[in-house]
Amino acid sequence: MNQDGWKGPIPQPIRKDGAGWWDLGPRDVMRDLENPDMLVSPATDAGMLPNLKFSFSDTNMQLNHGGWSREVTVRQLPVATTLAGVNMALTPGGVRELHWHQQAEWAIVLVGSARVTAVDQNGRNFIADVGVGDLWYFPPGIPHSIQGLAEGCEFLLVFDDGNFSDLHTLSLSDWFAHTPTEVVASNFGVPEQAFAQHPKGQRYIFQAPVPGPLECQAVEDPNGTVPLSFTHKLLAQEPIIAPGGTVRIVDSSNFPISTRIAASLLEIKPGAMREMHWHPNNDEWQYYISGKGRMTVLAPEGTARTFDYRAGDVGYVPFAFGHYIQNTGDQSLWVLEMFRSDRFEDVSLNQWLALTPHDLVQNNLHVGSDFTNALHKAKRFIVK
Ligand code: MN
Ligand code: MN
Repeated sequence: MNQDGWKGPIPQPIRKDGAGWWDLGPRDVMRDLENPDMLVSPATDAGMLPNLKFSFSDTNMQLNHGGWSREVTVRQLPVATTLAGVNMALTPGGVRELHWHQQAEWAIVLVGSARVTAVDQNGRNFIADVGVGDLWYFPPGIPHSIQGLAEGCEFLLVFDDGNFSDLHTLSLSDWFAHTPTEVVASNFGVPEQAFAQHPKGQRYIFQAPVPGPLECQAVEDPNGTVPLSFTHKLLAQEPIIAPGGTVRIVDSSNFPISTRIAASLLEIKPGAMREMHWHPNNDEWQYYISGKGRMTVLAPEGTARTFDYRAGDVGYVPFAFGHYIQNTGDQSLWVLEMFRSDRFEDVSLNQWLALTPHDLVQNNLHVGSDFTNALHKAKRFIVK
């Protein structure tokens, strides 16, 4: 047993061909066990790539009465300039307070259920309950709130700016705390003493009673509800059945309000892989929901690097860089591919070659017709 309590074989940085040597010095064995493809990288890896992985478990928790949050932004993962992620949980009744921000907010419920509220610029309200696999999207500048229902909830929030921090938003409590009480009183036309107890700073997350059913919180709106729903049932969406799993794509074509963020939810079965591909529209921000996987990314000038991922990790792929994700565990690997875009787009290596003159492909790769005859003209997304 080593100092970390690990009783299994200690991995060593030695490749099958004998390259490398024992690590006899200081080391973090638990870390090495989680990153086998960094300790012994595939022989095809080469050159330098910026770090493309950061775990929410390596970030600071913001603990509050009512829930917690932690974030992976450009401060944790410098390459990730397009999107930022926040992992948040709310207790039963716990509230992420009424607030707004300059960024678009996209979210997926991971555990439990929540109630979201928003009001748009035309005074149209939106109040809805969401459960596991449901999304919400709030356009930039639109005020909103989130509250945990009976069993509490956990969710992932994604913002269309890598510099975002959920601790730096515009909040209802801050505005009251930083406005003279007589101004607040005249704004609302009520006496100053009505605000004697108002918060003196940002509440962020706070504990409140569990709200009753949706109907008892309904607020009749003379302007009607928002014309485009702020929520979408992604997991309930009919998936694309791929040879090695399932794919659910969501963007402004089927969730019309979501004009700044697009996503695909992948289920990669054991032994399967997300096929070799890239995206012609923007960088990819990934969130690993469950299972274990490895991704190799191809960059220009023959550079390639492999990273290992597990639940709670964020991955990143710069614009147009080639990549694939292999399931390295014995359970399904669930992962989100996310883009700062109004649409999901990808280029499949297999499809590209299938639709290119076969003699050209054969001459380029020194392969025969057995290869070109096996190519697929339809995208397969996830292959066995
Ligand atoms: Mn927000
Ligand atoms: Mn991808």
